[in-house]
Amino acid sequence: MKLAMIGFGQAGGKIVDKFVEYDRETGSNVVRSAIAVNTAKADLAGLEHVPERNRVLIGQARVKGHGVGADNELGAEIAEEDIDEIQGAIDHVPVHEVDAFLVVAGMGGGTGSGGAPVLAGHLKRIYTEPVYGLGVLPAEDEGGIYTLNAARSFKTFVDEVDNLLVFDNDAWRETGESVRGGYDRINEEIVRRFGILFSAGEVQEGQEVAESVVDSSEIINTLSCGGVSTVGYATEEVETAGGGLLGRFSETDLDATETTNRITSLVRKAALGRLTLPCEVRSTDRSLVVMSGPNDHLNRKGIERGRKWLENETASMEVRGGDYPMSGTDRVAAVTLLSGVTDVPRIKDLQSVAVETKDNLEDIEEESEENLESLVRDESDELEALF
Ligand code: GDP
Repeated sequence: MKLAMIGFGQAGGKIVDKFVEYDRETGSNVVRSAIAVNTAKADLAGLEHVPERNRVLIGQARVKGHGVGADNELGAEIAEEDIDEIQGAIDHVPVHEVDAFLVVAGMGGGTGSGGAPVLAGHLKRIYTEPVYGLGVLPAEDEGGIYTLNAARSFKTFVDEVDNLLVFDNDAWRETGESVRGGYDRINEEIVRRFGILFSAGEVQEGQEVAESVVDSSEIINTLSCGGVSTVGYATEEVETAGGGLLGRFSETDLDATETTNRITSLVRKAALGRLTLPCEVRSTDRSLVVMSGPNDHLNRKGIERGRKWLENETASMEVRGGDYPMSGTDRVAAVTLLSGVTDVPRIKDLQSVAVETKDNLEDIEEESEENLESLVRDESDELEALF
């Protein structure tokens, strides 16, 4: 599947940057265009793989290249005001060659949190291609403001995109890790999962043709139920025949039952293990299984069994599946896309913390207004202001 990716804000830009790197390393040809949009000049300068001409600095008149802090209302306003500048970069995207747009942002901050939903709505009005969002939830310990921002952005973003793929930083943080080191690792996890998912349907150069290929239309169909999606992933190392004469015989030598069992067990691990957004698997509307790995370690029977298992687990008839053979790897991996999930306790928790924060902020604001008033006014209110 070919995507035009737009990273909004710092997290969005860094994740798109990583996608470009992954695309080059694996030759997967998924990222047809990569654009980064930000109100902070320094964040754009820190990117390594998004081409310079595709880095768009917005809001210069308002914030002079210094970012919006964590003010996502300002982020949204600036995106509205400067939408033509963003469109200027999108005008260079060969839209007839892309299957969809992917707008990526951290939902807890300001620029991406406010701007990404504005851009998604704009793209939907202009283009017929689907517009997907990849939204990152903040970790719980980032604090109330980030949670409030994320809850409001989530509500807005879901409405503006054809499907919102969610990644929850909280489910992926590890204790004792520096913030920067943590994000680098987390971004790799993000890109690996979504990379394999979106690579399906793209044939690499010199790649063998899959037995049951996943086409980009199957990804689109899975996502077309709308709402919120989450992705699971599991992988296992396998012995490869190492080419040469041995390579030719490897297919017949491999134990087909072992291959089938490995695939079904990986599908199970992917769906029941750590998802990008933890949720009740049973609340899934549509799903997709993609198996990747060396061609001789993939088979139709395994995928069919994995698909049937997921059908049962999600209580849904709409389970698609296929393989994506990759050369030069000794790992077999399963990616499960669970689309239109509705039972997500993490979102409910996020919303209740957000409401609490909003109430607290209102109380604090009211109190400080009263305090200022009593400071400025003399006791008997005799002094008059000049004007
Ligand atoms: P913005 O530049 O104003 O859009 O805000 P940021 O993107 O810097 O931060 C928004 C949120 O994204 C933060 O609260 C973090 O939860 C998250 N975040 C920031 N940087 C990264 C990153 O590199 N990777 C991931 N996964 N999350 C990030």
